[in-house]
Amino acid sequence: SGGPQETMRSAHELAAKLYYHVLMLTEQGSEGRTYVKDRGFTKEQIEHFQIGFAPDRWDALVTVLNKRNFSLDEMVKASLIGERESKEGYFDRFRNRLMFPIWDGQGNVIAFGGRTISDEKPKYLNSSDSPIFHKGQTLYGLHLARPSIRKEGVAVLFEGYVDVIAAWGAGMTNTIATLGTALTEDQAKVIRRNAETVTICYDSDKAGTKAAFRSAAILEQVGCVVKVAQMPDGLDPDDYIRTYGANRFKSDVIGASLTLMSFKMRYLRIGKNMQNEAERMNYIEEVLTEISTLSRAVERDHYLRQLADEFSLSLDALKQEQYQIFRANR
Ligand code: ATP
Ligand code: MN
Ligand code: MN
Ligand code: MN
Repeated sequence: SGGPQETMRSAHELAAKLYYHVLMLTEQGSEGRTYVKDRGFTKEQIEHFQIGFAPDRWDALVTVLNKRNFSLDEMVKASLIGERESKEGYFDRFRNRLMFPIWDGQGNVIAFGGRTISDEKPKYLNSSDSPIFHKGQTLYGLHLARPSIRKEGVAVLFEGYVDVIAAWGAGMTNTIATLGTALTEDQAKVIRRNAETVTICYDSDKAGTKAAFRSAAILEQVGCVVKVAQMPDGLDPDDYIRTYGANRFKSDVIGASLTLMSFKMRYLRIGKNMQNEAERMNYIEEVLTEISTLSRAVERDHYLRQLADEFSLSLDALKQEQYQIFRANR
């Protein structure tokens, strides 16, 4: 046996088995089964991602850990259970929640994400950072997706674990997700070690769009080629797949992903009337500013030509204008 961290990993493995068992086989799991069924998770998805259910009890996991002689103080440090403020005992942190094991890069369970099946807040309860779990360095599903990511050279990055699970059900095996926080540079470096290209596919809402810009900048900084996939109408990947199906997700969302510059151009257009001369000129200036941030001359040339074509402008005039902007911003 290998010290406190090894003990914490074993305890997580045990907890994952317990939650899975509860979901699949017990009376206490029946509400979890109903939830899973209503959401449309298949048996294959549940097995592949070891989804489980934490029963609505204060001592289900505590009892099992105690019986197996785990130090409960240590289990508190591992963020698996809580200690009463009075210090008179321990309680299960995760109750009445669908449980998603979170693995390290080698496939050891090191944390959980728990989704309430009622309207309880928070919607998702995640393990706190611990000696074995560092949220900002972990990517959901990486050990499962790594072979596909390496083979294809592309990783698809989502916001939520359920998006990864839905995409897997749709036949996409190269997808990963952050854990409810903004992408960190550490996570970006982990991705870069496995893939050159990253397709960001965040929820189609204001928060998701904003986060996509931030993640894109971080990913470019570590040397990734970034693409952005978009969905309509406030949907997220899981919603989209359930509404429109796997094929349309693959062709119309992932297949139609834009280069980062095209995504920025589309974003800059929002709310502008291109028939209005002043608004059009404003758009062109903004795009020129973006183009001048590109490091490769061939890329700058490509987008300048695109802009020239769309607005029937001469390439020379655009280059002149861009030079003025460049000087003004220096
Ligand atoms: P669902 O479809 O079950 O509502 P989701 O993945 O669409 O889940 P989002 O609200 O889009 O949920 O959030 C994306 C991710 O952010 C989740 O997977 C989770 O990791 C994290 N998250 C969401 N809400 C919370 C919260 N209240 N506390 C902590 N993390 C959260
Ligand atoms: Mn979201
Ligand atoms: Mn979502
Ligand atoms: Mn969702």
